[in-house]
Amino acid sequence: MSEELINEKLLKDYYEIFNDSEKLKDFSSYYRALVQIVKRYPLEFTDEVRDEWGLNELLSIEEKKYIVDKPDICLNMEKKRLVRNYENIDTLAMAIRDTLWDMVTVYSGKDCPITPNDELRYIKIVYKDNSDKILLECAGCGWTEDINGNEYTGPVGKVFPVKKDEIENI
Ligand SMILES: [Zn+2]
Repeated sequence: MSEELINEKLLKDYYEIFNDSEKLKDFSSYYRALVQIVKRYPLEFTDEVRDEWGLNELLSIEEKKYIVDKPDICLNMEKKRLVRNYENIDTLAMAIRDTLWDMVTVYSGKDCPITPNDELRYIKIVYKDNSDKILLECAGCGWTEDINGNEYTGPVGKVFPVKKDEIENI
């Protein structure tokens, strides 16, 4: 975790997204604008920061195939929500991670057994050997279960969002 202040130029570029109607014209443009910010500042968004917040996975996907029909985001309210102070790069990385996930999350319709106010979302876990598995995860508490509802305890891997057609096939 870094305790340093965030590079001013980075913050200015980031805030600028919310004044740019081109970048907020649709979810795909918005997704790409956030990805570009992360990629443009590798000295701030280091490998360590990207790993910690699962950003590499979100940066690597072809966003058009993942963005859901009705993300839980109101594009013209994003300025109000996200132009605020960020304590450090981790706080900013977390906000970007959450926003990217909001655009690609496919929800399962099932509540978390631990924190019932949270709805489980589909994730795809990709293992070292490139095999993968679709699971349900709670973004609130981290509870993870397999598609039969049994608690999932591992092994771990890289966590990706899931495309809608991948769910239709399970
Ligand atoms: Zn939960």
